[in-house]
Amino acid sequence: MAFIGFKKDIGIDLGTTNSLVYLKQRGIIFNEPTLVAINTKSGQLLAVGNEAKKMFGRTPPHINVIKPLINGVVSDFEIAKEILRYFFKKINKDSFLNYNRLVIGVPTNLTEVEKKSVEDAALTAGANKILIVEEPIAAVLGARLPIKEPVANMIVDIGGGTTEIAVVSLEGVVTSKSLKIAGDKFNEEIIKYVRDEFKLIIGEPTAEELKINIGSAIPLDEKLEMPARGRDLSSSLPREVIIKDSQIRIALNPLISSIIDAVKETLELTPPELVGDILKQGIYLCGGGSLLRGINYRIEKEIGVPATIVEDPLTCVARGLGVIAENFPFHFKNFSSPLKPLDIKL
Ligand code: ADP
Ligand code: MG
Repeated sequence: MAFIGFKKDIGIDLGTTNSLVYLKQRGIIFNEPTLVAINTKSGQLLAVGNEAKKMFGRTPPHINVIKPLINGVVSDFEIAKEILRYFFKKINKDSFLNYNRLVIGVPTNLTEVEKKSVEDAALTAGANKILIVEEPIAAVLGARLPIKEPVANMIVDIGGGTTEIAVVSLEGVVTSKSLKIAGDKFNEEIIKYVRDEFKLIIGEPTAEELKINIGSAIPLDEKLEMPARGRDLSSSLPREVIIKDSQIRIALNPLISSIIDAVKETLELTPPELVGDILKQGIYLCGGGSLLRGINYRIEKEIGVPATIVEDPLTCVARGLGVIAENFPFHFKNFSSPLKPLDIKL
């Protein structure tokens, strides 16, 4: 029997830092930080995104505002389920009898058991049909790179909690690597550097501002600097220092090198003919971390392969999921890989 009611095709990119929701024929309808406010007494989810952010620091003791996806791992499927339920409620608030088809992006390193947990979480949260797509594939679609042709693309997605490196060919991930060095670690290193060099304790929002305003991966033509306020390490009094782009570069340098090493390692594990494709096509960078000044030039110089930042790197994965949501039945056939039976040894 045909379904009578409202069919909603939805794409969700639940990132460690930002969550985006794509609704068919509407586009991106939600793009907010991955933060939740939870009532610790009842376990109830009170708010998500900006609304949760507003509660930060001014909540009674039983309300907790947390970043639920630390290090890119869905550590708590209960919370993930609640977030999805919140999105479904938001999308379906003006209609009833809904049929929600969901395409959700996941990192490449999830086990079958973890994928099954994502699927279960989505189904109990209100999805009627679900398609799990690995994020680099969504990124390739979002960047409108050829996916059908037998050419390989390399995607380096520098997010908040993790950097996902993948070689994608003919709709599949050939090789991939995930490392826990990304935007959050960049901020941590900036905090450490300012503490060690200036004997000043700065907060994470200040570190984020320094990274975005004056951060870079290569020496800049134009020198940048920014005042940073914090608490003096010994006197505990407020103090301000001027920080230069060269100093942030020193702080971030080891992390950038680790990301580049991981890209090299991934290339080493890639079949030679696909490496040939990547040499020709270049490496594509996405995720918020790809906006760090000059990171593409640094990769280009050290690896010897052209590196391109995709257009609007913060929404690339969500737009790719959107490509799928716009033509769900077609992509469902293409991408759905039935879960492999578990090989349980007793
Ligand atoms: P995720 O998919 O893990 O949620 P995003 O792709 O949304 O991550 O990227 C978020 C990260 O990008 C954050 O760590 C943020 O600080 C960083 N970021 C955003 N804009 C910039 C910028 N202009 N320069 C450097 N880092 C940035
Ligand atoms: Mg992401």
